[in-house]
Amino acid sequence: MGVIKQLPVYAEKVPGGAIVATSLESILHHSQACSLWYLLFGTACCAIELMATGASRYDFDRLGMIFRASPRQSDLIIAAGTITKKMAPRLRKLYDQMAEPRYVIAMGGCTVKGGPFYYDSYAVEKGIDHIVPVDVYIPGCPPRPESLLEGCLTLQKKIKAQKLADWQK
Ligand code: SF4
Repeated sequence: MGVIKQLPVYAEKVPGGAIVATSLESILHHSQACSLWYLLFGTACCAIELMATGASRYDFDRLGMIFRASPRQSDLIIAAGTITKKMAPRLRKLYDQMAEPRYVIAMGGCTVKGGPFYYDSYAVEKGIDHIVPVDVYIPGCPPRPESLLEGCLTLQKKIKAQKLADWQK
């Protein structure tokens, strides 16, 4: 019943029960948003905070976030850490191997814009959004688990608000 309360529904009480009507589209997006399986792409210090978010204190699972080690089983990449130019093609390859619809969270200053390596490194990518399309940016060096949780809730809201036609883009 908790799930039904969150859906845009038309509900009417009738003797002996209730009729609930909603659109297939709403159910699809709601189910998808509440069951995001994410590919771990932790490359540096931010990954420690990502792991902490998955542990018992913050309990990522309660948002339906389950980590996977294969892009074939994932609909979200959480890129957490410094992305070097050598690593960029691997990130793109993993993204391409995921089934659509797929999403990307850039966690931490390094993935957002190169972080502390923005000025002085020839080897670090200055943001991953020219490698893969980013849906949610989470700044910080590193961002705390609360920020990652907030970023995931933001992504869930975006997914629930999208239309089926958006999947074709
Ligand atoms: S943003 Fe800061 S904490 Fe995160 S990977 Fe870069 S240097 Fe490390």
